[in-house]
Amino acid sequence: MIAIDEAQFFEYLFDLCTKAADHDGKTVIVAGLDGDYLKRSFGSVLDIIPIADTVTKLSARCGENAVLTLRKTDETRTEVIAGAEVYMPVCHMHYISGQMVKDATKAVLESNDAHFSQFYRVFPFTWGNCWF
Ligand SMILES: [Zn+2]
Repeated sequence: MIAIDEAQFFEYLFDLCTKAADHDGKTVIVAGLDGDYLKRSFGSVLDIIPIADTVTKLSARCGENAVLTLRKTDETRTEVIAGAEVYMPVCHMHYISGQMVKDATKAVLESNDAHFSQFYRVFPFTWGNCWF
């Protein structure tokens, strides 16, 4: 048996899985993210769906099914290895509201208006069970 975690970072995932399963007779279990923080296909995880015997899509909970990943920073590189300090699993509604909160907070903090900056620091945003 071969188990692969963080499959989104494996460049030759399809070839690896095909060789291990078809040529070497191995059972291959793969875990990884199917999408990045911009809702795009992440790595080649989706390329192995056609050759999988079964597919189970797991999700966290944010009050709803948190199938998306919200990046809490302004970093724009696709691959940023980090944990909960940078990423948050969210549902579709919280993904959109989280992006809006990030943009609004950034605009306020970048402005010279100390009054609004103070307001945003005193009253953190909350959406359902998610805190921003
Ligand atoms: Zn949510």
